[in-house]
Amino acid sequence: MDNNNIKHIVIVGGGTSGWMSAAALSRIVGTQDCKITLVESEQVGTVGVGEATIPPIVEFNNLLGINADEMLSATQGTFKLGIEFTNWGRIGDAYMHPFGVFGRTIMNVSFWHYWKKAYELGLSPPLDAYSLNWLAAKQNRFLRSGNVPNSPLSKVHHAYHFDANLYARFLREFSTGLGVNRIEGLVEQVIQDPQSGFIKGIKLQDSTIVNGDFFIDCTGFRGLLIEQCLETGYEDWSHYLPCNSAQAVPTAALSQKAALYQIYCALQRLAMANSSTAQNRQRHCLQHRICQ
Ligand SMILES: Cc1cc2nc3c(=O)[nH]c(=O)nc-3n(C[C@H](O)[C@H](O)[C@H](O)COP(=O)(O)OP(=O)(O)OC[C@H]3O[C@@H](n4cnc5c(N)ncnc54)[C@H](O)[C@@H]3O)c2cc1C
Repeated sequence: MDNNNIKHIVIVGGGTSGWMSAAALSRIVGTQDCKITLVESEQVGTVGVGEATIPPIVEFNNLLGINADEMLSATQGTFKLGIEFTNWGRIGDAYMHPFGVFGRTIMNVSFWHYWKKAYELGLSPPLDAYSLNWLAAKQNRFLRSGNVPNSPLSKVHHAYHFDANLYARFLREFSTGLGVNRIEGLVEQVIQDPQSGFIKGIKLQDSTIVNGDFFIDCTGFRGLLIEQCLETGYEDWSHYLPCNSAQAVPTAALSQKAALYQIYCALQRLAMANSSTAQNRQRHCLQHRICQ
């Protein structure tokens, strides 16, 4: 018997990242041989505005064995086939990134090679015409890809828009149901081993000490463990990014139907005439907030 096995995992933070970690670990590692504890504080709260996802979220939910319909109902979610970027490259243009594939591989050669040649010869419509996701989204049509052998219908990938707070709450029910121990409490101190420097515990405001063998920092921008305690360093990529802020705002409904794609709208200095800051505004639909 190996005594070095991890016996207690402590997740600090209960936003989407915290509860996604708890859900995945409780499903895969289980809570029989290894205790899993999540500490969160209502005094701090979560960011919770992240509502747009990409297709790996479907795989993640499948891994957990979550029923997608139940999850969508609990999180006010809607389906999404792609992301449209308007005014992104320049004012007036629009580009949609549909999920899934374009065309089909022919004789082991990717489709886009054939398309490019044909397009240059004036023999083909734009690439979008070969994306089922693009065509369906533009016509407000949707289907879940099925296991249909040898059919492009199996390549229709989708994702969701959902209320991130509700998703975290949904996964909280899921994880505690699998034995994850939830502690409500504000972390005041991170305790390090004096010799190794490794984190060995956290002290809460009410003086409770939670010791563990493995800690996961899900405290968001605070980086309570990874940054404030361990000072691992933050790598700034802002010089690569033409757009350096995001705004989540409710706007007038565009239609009574839920759009099947998300719209990213770059405001690019329009809102802030004298600022070097470029913003993006996002449009995504929830069941209770159609087509904002
Ligand atoms: C405007 C905007 C739009 C966005 N849009 C999207 C999007 O469309 N899609 C997307 O995927 N992402 C989006 N994001 C990013 C996304 O919202 C965040 O990355 C995500 O919510 C962060 O979640 P988190 O769990 O890491 O942190 P948080 O939500 O910040 O959670 C932190 C947790 O740590 C706990 N905590 C912190 N300090 C303590 C303490 N001292 N003691 C105890 N607990 C503590 C808090 O209680 C909380 O539970 C957007 C962000 C912004 C700002």
